[in-house]
Amino acid sequence: MSEELKGNGHCETLVVDDEPTEGVSGSATAALCARAPVGLLAELTHRCPLQCAYCSNPIELERVNKELSTETWCSVMKQAGAMGILQVHLSGGEPTARKDLEQIVSAASEAGLYSNLITAAVTLNRPRLEDLAKRGLDHVQISFQDVDAENAERIGAYPGATQKKLDVARWVTELGLPLTINAPIHRQNIHNVGRYIELAVKLGAQRLEIAHVQYYGWAYLNRAALIPTYDETLKSIELVERERERLKGVLTIDMVVPDYYAKRPKPCMGGWGKGFMNITPAGKVLPCHAAETIKTLSFDNVQDRPLLDIWLNSEAFNAFRGTDWMKEPCRSCAFREIDFGGCRCQAMAITGDARNTDPACALSPYHGEMVRLAREEASRPPASFVYRNPRNAAEATKAERPLVPAE
Ligand code: SF4
Ligand code: SF4
Repeated sequence: MSEELKGNGHCETLVVDDEPTEGVSGSATAALCARAPVGLLAELTHRCPLQCAYCSNPIELERVNKELSTETWCSVMKQAGAMGILQVHLSGGEPTARKDLEQIVSAASEAGLYSNLITAAVTLNRPRLEDLAKRGLDHVQISFQDVDAENAERIGAYPGATQKKLDVARWVTELGLPLTINAPIHRQNIHNVGRYIELAVKLGAQRLEIAHVQYYGWAYLNRAALIPTYDETLKSIELVERERERLKGVLTIDMVVPDYYAKRPKPCMGGWGKGFMNITPAGKVLPCHAAETIKTLSFDNVQDRPLLDIWLNSEAFNAFRGTDWMKEPCRSCAFREIDFGGCRCQAMAITGDARNTDPACALSPYHGEMVRLAREEASRPPASFVYRNPRNAAEATKAERPLVPAE
């Protein structure tokens, strides 16, 4: 069977079973085109010199000997471009830990993809960044663990990180590349949201991402060390809203809000299998980066099956596509095609069943208990960090236990 999305734009013609869809009606073509993903997150490696306790990588970190080869990543870029994907986010772990990052960037550029390097920046030097830019790298996103150097280096467990990040940020703008500053926010740096905004302006960033930590994987394990109080959260959101207004035309501030205190969930990934793919260092293709926490799903590997076939036909991508899988209260709710029932991984983590309504929704029977737990944890002194490293990964098992027993 051959299935291929063709065209120079996001999607022009879909070929299924060697039959182009040229005869199909406009609305049918539109429906097929709407199924091409926009973005691909390529987790090139789980190696990273930092050890952030909120890391979005899975607890079970992938070993270096399982990582995809250069040839396979280059083939992934080619396939992604051919099927109409627009952007590739080169991430990790720390993507610069891959010695072949240069070849992968070249392959992304040749495939017509807009490439974004998501980096902790502590291992980059200027000649390497210049080379990546020459090969077609389009954008750089640098994470700062805090604006206060001492606290940042405690959070990331990497002495001297801040100065290195500041240097790389300067080189990025000197080379004319757009810069995004990523600010992962939690109770141990939430008092510095205003200073993050000042830093982003000072560094000449185009965009600042105020990303309140989402509690999966390592962050779930470390929730008692990370979750801010309701009042701190609200204050930070109000500050960002004011600053957005003031800095219109200077800095774009995007914000990922913490949904433990929300009444409605966010439309996680814009809907499962709707616009996004994630590839792990070993080649598993996931609908979102935390999807492996749903143990009932099995994931295809890009070494065994073409990317487009996985996108269209794999069990994991179809498991929660659309609305047919929903249980009540989502099934009959007017918001079901707006938020798609929220996050499947959060439903799994908190309730033990990925098909349940995300407990961030006030209509979930688990919502009250989730808010109570968050408020209680936030009111206690912060727990010590369980740093993200292979030793702690081996010991950490309790994150897989549902917090609230299923009814
Ligand atoms: S969150 Fe921290 S530990 Fe995880 S990949 Fe990013 S820099 Fe490394
Ligand atoms: S019940 Fe489901 S669809 Fe309705 S608002 Fe809550 S999460 Fe969204």
